[in-house]
Amino acid sequence: RFITLEGGEGTGKSTLQHALAERLAANGIEVVETREPGGTPLAESVRELALHPPRSEAWSPMAEALLMNAARSDHLDKLIRPALAAGKWVICDRFADSTRVYQSVGAGVPMDFLKAMERSVLAQDVPDLTLVLDAPLDATAGRRKSRPGASDAFEVRPDDFHQAVRTGFIELVRTEPARCRLLDASRPADEVADAAWTELDRLLAA
Ligand code: C5P
Repeated sequence: RFITLEGGEGTGKSTLQHALAERLAANGIEVVETREPGGTPLAESVRELALHPPRSEAWSPMAEALLMNAARSDHLDKLIRPALAAGKWVICDRFADSTRVYQSVGAGVPMDFLKAMERSVLAQDVPDLTLVLDAPLDATAGRRKSRPGASDAFEVRPDDFHQAVRTGFIELVRTEPARCRLLDASRPADEVADAAWTELDRLLAA
């Protein structure tokens, strides 16, 4: 099974990832925890290039979209597909939906192109379940500022950028209700994990 965690910065994706992996392991399931951009050595190098462009230059949204998909293709080939083929569960902190949202907000890349590229890169490997963590900006402000990556080119963006990202993720869940679930991430972490676990139960039972 392939599960992805999505949402804006500071919504608690990695905390939830570890909590779910622990619960799955306690149920005897082998879990691979990974992240995007990144997840393999080459894709991690692309992450570094994308998030910290040399000479403090900025990538265009189109260039970002291509970098994210190049990294994703490597990640799928070398880590995600082999793990799924071996019967493991994969939980990925950010995946293709982050590209749909981040590279399309503002005057970004047209959604039709992002979806076409996504279809080619993912092929059959669409996530079984995508949990989208949602919280008001004032609930994530503290975590956004305190995180070690706060000097990332992406993380110094203004509030209206983060608001557009939040709206983008809400829209994603509305358009893909079969795959995506919106979780209220302004609650304590253990309550978010309980709510997420209820969604995973569906996959465990299937
Ligand atoms: O998950 P995390 O918050 O560590 O993501 C790192 C950064 O990469 C985020 O600040 C996000 O804005 C950015 N990102 C992006 N496009 C993607 C994925 C991540 O701009 N497709």
